[in-house]
Amino acid sequence: MKHKGAILILSGPSGAGKSSLYKILAKEFPNHYFSISSTTRSKREGEVEGVHYHFIDKATFECGIQKGEFLEWAEVHGNYYGTSKKQVLEALNEDKLVIFDIDVQGQANLKKSFPNHTTSVFITTPSKSILSQRLKGRGSDNAEVIEKRLENALDEVKNLANFDYLILNENLEDSAKKLICIAKSAFCKASLYEIQPFLQNWEK
Ligand code: ADP
Ligand code: 5GP
Repeated sequence: MKHKGAILILSGPSGAGKSSLYKILAKEFPNHYFSISSTTRSKREGEVEGVHYHFIDKATFECGIQKGEFLEWAEVHGNYYGTSKKQVLEALNEDKLVIFDIDVQGQANLKKSFPNHTTSVFITTPSKSILSQRLKGRGSDNAEVIEKRLENALDEVKNLANFDYLILNENLEDSAKKLICIAKSAFCKASLYEIQPFLQNWEK
């Protein structure tokens, strides 16, 4: 009577703090699965194959698209990114909270595919200038890449109204507390229940 699993999508401009917040959330939710995307972008220092992403080349990615291996995919900042279908469906079937760090196109697509399961959170900095400081402070991208990400940030923020929640990530600990509350409520959504079987069981 209950749909199995729930989906929590984290989206927002690059540098807003999605990965930092996910790391804190992960400790609070052992019963979760983080969807490891595939990407054609190059690996950053400290990133590990199969942990942060599956790093694949363009031809392999395009082959995956043809074979229907992705639940959703998009071109973001000039690279391909996609969500693997198999692992996500397995995790939902195991009644896990499936967490995604995906862009606004991916959020729109997943929300369409899983309207009953999905809770989405838009995470951003209080301003573009703080985003710029964070991207520069992270030190993982060169000036050209940072410029491109900042240019794209405004277009991403324009999608805010498509999300259930907004976290303005000023203080990391405060933001993490908010995200933990949202994750807990993602598992209590009325839409996770199918009404007819629920009523049959309730009337017993
Ligand atoms: P994203 O995953 O959204 O691209 P990251 O989690 O990598 O962003 O964060 C970008 C940078 O900002 C990192 O260097 C991170 O340590 C830092 N950061 C994240 N949240 C905060 C915060 N609330 N205050 C200050 N710095 C932060
Ligand atoms: P980054 O290169 O900073 O890791 O990620 C760049 C952007 O791609 C971020 O907005 C991130 O959320 C998004 N992204 C990562 N994986 C996926 C995915 O599988 N699908 C989509 N649509 N976006 C993704």
